Amino acid sequence: MSPSEELLQLLTETSKQLKHLNQLGVDGVVKSESSTQPAAEGFIPKQVQPLASPISNQPAESSVTLFGELIRTSETLPVSNESFEQIHTEIGECVRCPLHQQRTHVVHTEGNRKARLMFVGEAPGADEDTQARPFVGRAGQLLTKIIEAIGLKREEVLIGNVNRCRPPGNRPPTPEEAAMCKPYILREIAIVRPEVIVVLGNTAMHNLLENREGITKLRGKFQDYKGIKVMPTFHPAYLLRDPSKKRETWEDLKKVRDYLDANRPANNQKSPHQHPDLRVQIRSEQPI
Ligand code: URA
Repeated sequence: MSPSEELLQLLTETSKQLKHLNQLGVDGVVKSESSTQPAAEGFIPKQVQPLASPISNQPAESSVTLFGELIRTSETLPVSNESFEQIHTEIGECVRCPLHQQRTHVVHTEGNRKARLMFVGEAPGADEDTQARPFVGRAGQLLTKIIEAIGLKREEVLIGNVNRCRPPGNRPPTPEEAAMCKPYILREIAIVRPEVIVVLGNTAMHNLLENREGITKLRGKFQDYKGIKVMPTFHPAYLLRDPSKKRETWEDLKKVRDYLDANRPANNQKSPHQHPDLRVQIRSEQPI
């Protein structure tokens, strides 16, 4: 048998086997990093695929279908019937993690609950802790400027943090503290279903995307959170320390603006949630 005939026979046999497995309930084959892993270990029976959950901590999984295309097996945003009020009542005067000991206020997500665009930061700082509002200090003022630079007003977007209580000395929340609080913002995301989420800095990116990459590597490249586009970029507090990074941040935000503009609902020149009076001048030179 010639090598090409042998290959054809092998492919035909493999195709038959895969069809048979599919009839038995195997939906796909996990793409293994290791070429030495036996393929059978990677089969995913249909009934054990993880269910999507708004508070799932599972990392994104991908698999290869019988026809070779890469699919995500577990990651769709769940439909939510909750309200922000219900979530905030449930949080109450939270004492679930040690951060409650030194906080003044729990700082909830604020803004337009029908927003197309959401910003997620790390945790409140001193000003936010005092005023019970996210991003109202110096970094927050820069964030407002960034939002306006892409033609939106702060009231039109949604702004929140992974953690709702201020860590002492503005240190990043520990993984345990973040894990305790993160489910609430994930539930808010499931309610609002924004089209784009901008994650500000490493803590927000690591917690939303469950990756360990550095922000410098992933910034400017759209990622995915359960079907929502996610743009990682620098945290405004970092921009205050190193203003030379504003240029890259502006590049990242222009991509977000262009995506939102290109995906406006067909029957609406402006965002469906946007009052014309809120429209501000869109700048093309670096405005931040
Ligand atoms: N930094 C954050 O990450 N969030 C805030 O709300 C303020 C500063």
